[in-house]
Amino acid sequence: MGKVIAIANQKGGVGKTTTAVNLAAALGFAGKRVLMVDMDPQGNSTSGFGINKRTCEASTYDLIIGTQPAAKALVHTKFKNVDILPASIELAGAEIELIELEDRTMRLKKLLTPLKLNYDFVLIDCPPSLGLITLNALAASDYLLVPIQCEYYALEGLSQLITTVRQVKRLYNPTIEILGVLLTMYDSRLNLTLQVVAEVKKYFPNKVFKTVIPRNVRLSEAPSFGQPIIYFDRVSKGAQAYNELAQEIIGMYHM
Ligand code: ADP
Ligand code: MG
Repeated sequence: MGKVIAIANQKGGVGKTTTAVNLAAALGFAGKRVLMVDMDPQGNSTSGFGINKRTCEASTYDLIIGTQPAAKALVHTKFKNVDILPASIELAGAEIELIELEDRTMRLKKLLTPLKLNYDFVLIDCPPSLGLITLNALAASDYLLVPIQCEYYALEGLSQLITTVRQVKRLYNPTIEILGVLLTMYDSRLNLTLQVVAEVKKYFPNKVFKTVIPRNVRLSEAPSFGQPIIYFDRVSKGAQAYNELAQEIIGMYHM
């Protein structure tokens, strides 16, 4: 049964989508079957896999709001072992539409339950908010992966995220755990980076991944070519880091 991992942090620009796409590709390349679930209306993890949102038959919006079977939206990417449920811009309206629906926080969990049997990992790319979409993702997940950008105010808002996770644990999903905190855009030459790392480790003892993701311009170039980094530039620092993260996560499960 696939492990479901939500990649969440309500702050934008911290590396959620970059991590979702590149971790999915690296896990797939390592022989794991991966389902990527794009829950951000921006759809950047969909386009990061070279998929044109306009040509998709259905999207995560149709699945979460409507009654379409998940198979209708499923797309096989051209990258090894990675399938995706693509996002579309209509998902932006889902935050409001969900309010009216019954079991508004459990809809993603319901639709993933039969699907996850076919995968080793299901990665959910979350939007930069703690609204109903992120709640659905947390309710559906076994684990939470929190990317944190090594920047000023890195920890800002994290107490809110942790409070939300506690509420989700109490109300909808008692077994969710933090898989790890991932330091992104790491630059060891900067004093600031080192300060942030020390602070994050203090805040999340034993929960920080050993792997850190360096600031690497190739990581920001790859999406415009519709390719995960390990295909776009196999020898880049970014590719090495995401391969290492995939191995660290596989190791956590003794797989
Ligand atoms: P989020 O999904 O949290 O909003 P993104 O993954 O979209 O964040 O990243 C925000 C921006 O930073 C994007 O332009 C992305 O290409 C860039 N970026 C992310 N991680 C790195 C990195 N390690 N090095 C360089 N640029 C990065
Ligand atoms: Mg994103």
